[in-house]
Amino acid sequence: MKVPALILKPGREKSLKRRHPWVFSGAVERAEGAPAPGATIVVRASDGQPLGLAAYSPHSQIRARMWSFAAGERIDADWFRQRIAAAVARRAGLDPAAGVRLVHAEADGLPGLIVDRYADLAVVQLLSAGCEHWREAIVAALVEATGVAQVYERSDTDSRELEGLEPRSGPLHGPPPAAPVEIVENGLKLAVDVAHGHKTGFYLDQRNNRARARAAARPGITALNCFCYTGAFSVALAAGGAARVVSIDSSAPALDLARANWAANGLDAAHAEWRCADVFEELRRARDRGEKYDIIVLDPPKFAPTPASVERATRAYKDINLLGLKLLAPGGRLITFSCSGGVSADLFGKIVAGAAADAGVEAIIEARLVAAADHPVLLSFPEGEYLKGLVLRRI
Ligand code: SAH
Repeated sequence: MKVPALILKPGREKSLKRRHPWVFSGAVERAEGAPAPGATIVVRASDGQPLGLAAYSPHSQIRARMWSFAAGERIDADWFRQRIAAAVARRAGLDPAAGVRLVHAEADGLPGLIVDRYADLAVVQLLSAGCEHWREAIVAALVEATGVAQVYERSDTDSRELEGLEPRSGPLHGPPPAAPVEIVENGLKLAVDVAHGHKTGFYLDQRNNRARARAAARPGITALNCFCYTGAFSVALAAGGAARVVSIDSSAPALDLARANWAANGLDAAHAEWRCADVFEELRRARDRGEKYDIIVLDPPKFAPTPASVERATRAYKDINLLGLKLLAPGGRLITFSCSGGVSADLFGKIVAGAAADAGVEAIIEARLVAAADHPVLLSFPEGEYLKGLVLRRI
């Protein structure tokens, strides 16, 4: 049977020749052979030259995602077995008991697929029509490569809608998780609620940055953790010696798990304060009350999910960073992040510099932070570099 094809407009093959893995709708001249959603198609330049094999997403602006730049390859269950085994092998040095991202989409040659492993449980996100098409092969390959007892699906994201897919979540292999699963990150116990938590249940990308926050803490200091989710930074700051950690999040269930995580690490409840509040409002109240902190962590959700929202996101980042800098004690540190793909490290630096200028605060950049190495960035796909952070020291 002839493989359906996607023919590009003249000149639109350039990015694929540089191995960028996406084909945007505007680059497409026509589809041939009536491909179904998620079907494998051969992508061709306008002169017919084959550029590689891709998954077809007829409903998305990203019309095709490249599986391979070798047009002669065969995309089948065995191909997924090899790609997933390779991704798992690249993480061989990482301890599953600490939580590991096993598959990081484009950077592992598997656009649309995210897999996080927490001990003996893997959580899968199938975010593209192509991954949906191959779901059984993907789950089988994952079980084979890892030997995990349970696989749970959390494909309940907005991005599925752009692909014309229904949200889906639930067990795919083995029994459903009866309770939050425990991981031990940098020696600290953290419960992960894979069924009800955000994304796959936990933010593994911040692993090294939490260790960094812990190392920056000193005995007796006071710390503030904004957008604390389940308190992973809070616990790390306490492990570093913080005598008091104030944590803010708008999600009550996240704070319940955060309290449990605090207790599970033998920390005294009297040294923690959990504020269920909007960070934008709570930071203003903290400023009006004259609160001061030695370390402040700002790890907000993605303020700019689309290119169109970058301007609004810029204002939001500036606002919280300005307030955060004002709450810093002299010599204190602001550890501030953006996980918006649309906000580059350069732009983020400018936003924070603008916030410091408006706050009348001088600071030095002690470090620039990125996601942990199990969230790799493909050289040919800089859009994948979503997480960026700064450690600033007030002088
Ligand atoms: N730092 C966390 C991850 C943060 S995820 C970690 O290391 O695990 C972002 C968090 O921000 C979520 O828990 C979400 O509930 C919270 N959030 C989003 N908007 C908020 C707002 N305006 N005010 C307070 N919390 C908010």
